[in-house]
Amino acid sequence: MAERPTKLVDLLVVGAGPAGAMAAATAARGGLGVWLVDKRQLPRHKPCGGGMPLPVQEELRDLVPEAVVDTRVRWMRHSWRFQQAAEASVDPPGTAPEQARALWMVQRPRFDHALVQAAAAAGARVLEGHAFQALERGGDGVTVTLRCPGASGEPRCLQVRARHVIGADGAAAGVAACVGLRPDPRVALAIELEVPHQWDPADPLLRPDLLHLDYGVLRRGYAWLFPKADHLNIGAGLFHGRERDVRRDPRARQRIRAAIDATAAALGIEPGSEVYERARLVTDAGQPTHSLTSYYRPEDVADTPIVDPTPGPVPGGGGFGALTRKGLEPDRITETIHSRMPTPDEIDTLALPAGEPVMILERCTYTADGRCVEFARGVHAASRFAWTYSFTIPD
Ligand SMILES: Cc1cc2nc3c(=O)[nH]c(=O)nc-3n(C[C@H](O)[C@H](O)[C@H](O)COP(=O)(O)OP(=O)(O)OC[C@H]3O[C@@H](n4cnc5c(N)ncnc54)[C@H](O)[C@@H]3O)c2cc1C
Repeated sequence: MAERPTKLVDLLVVGAGPAGAMAAATAARGGLGVWLVDKRQLPRHKPCGGGMPLPVQEELRDLVPEAVVDTRVRWMRHSWRFQQAAEASVDPPGTAPEQARALWMVQRPRFDHALVQAAAAAGARVLEGHAFQALERGGDGVTVTLRCPGASGEPRCLQVRARHVIGADGAAAGVAACVGLRPDPRVALAIELEVPHQWDPADPLLRPDLLHLDYGVLRRGYAWLFPKADHLNIGAGLFHGRERDVRRDPRARQRIRAAIDATAAALGIEPGSEVYERARLVTDAGQPTHSLTSYYRPEDVADTPIVDPTPGPVPGGGGFGALTRKGLEPDRITETIHSRMPTPDEIDTLALPAGEPVMILERCTYTADGRCVEFARGVHAASRFAWTYSFTIPD
């Protein structure tokens, strides 16, 4: 049963993706009373390659790119069944070097959440877990029915009165359907895979400044490989199936998965190779400070205390001690540090306050003969850490 409608708000925005968050922020900055609602808890995952078209950057002047941009792509490699590849700059021919731009690669949960936070900072009221159900026009505005969890978790209906409503609920487009704006939608289907990746400066094809697009591997669709800070986003989409709604085509998912596998194989990536993972959460005075996850080749750690499921540091000199006793003595380490906004899981695990970024420290540990014996990733609450480096200045 619906509750009595709320007082009249100037604008209700349904959907807290980039479109909704930007609309809410703009309207709130202009002085309107704005509610921004999303059916999901925020930040939420969004299946997306996260490649930011260049013109979009112009609209994001208030965003600090360093907080949300994983990599900057300068080159696009277009191919047909991985042959006849053409590598082209993202800039038009003849662009002066000082005017060269880059395509931003973002991770959607972080990027979208940064925009939602900007809307909240501008004065918009953000309601997560509120799903649009229906609307009714009349009088001086619109009555919108939202479904949301009640005090003890059971679903309840909330009615909101608004002078104006913006439907920014993405492909679902429930708002548009309600007002007859989307009578006959065409549905596409895409699948993506995130493959952890360490950049090798010697690799000419897998580079953080290069994205790949192949148009021949999937008929009526295409496949992509987008570089992210610590992983590759490999995906494929089928946009024109035999059916108007591709989801009804029983072979569609199979064909898309085959295209993703072919893309990975063409670039020498083995998404299926198994690793042994050991993770722990480090606390200080009861407060979580960082999570630390190490990955090993299973054959390197078999019969060592590293595979002992007991929580805590690896007994007998830690992971490096165990590797040394296996004849894989760590010799050198490469560390990479970057910062980003946290994922929803990281906010929970590290009990992060709103708006706090995380510092990511990735470590590759090699033996003297160059074998990588451990890849580790630490996710640190930014306000609880500082790193100090001291070194002799090279000649
Ligand atoms: C696999 C894939 C890869 C893609 N790759 C790229 C890319 O690389 N670059 C690019 O530019 N674009 C890409 N896109 C397209 C891009 O994701 C969309 O264009 C973009 O997300 C649209 O933004 P939006 O704000 O309109 O909607 P969305 O980002 O979809 O946000 C809509 C929001 O509405 C909420 N919502 C839905 N229904 C309701 C409801 N009933 N009540 C309340 N809230 C609701 C959802 O939870 C969501 O948060 C990709 C899309 C897919 C599927």
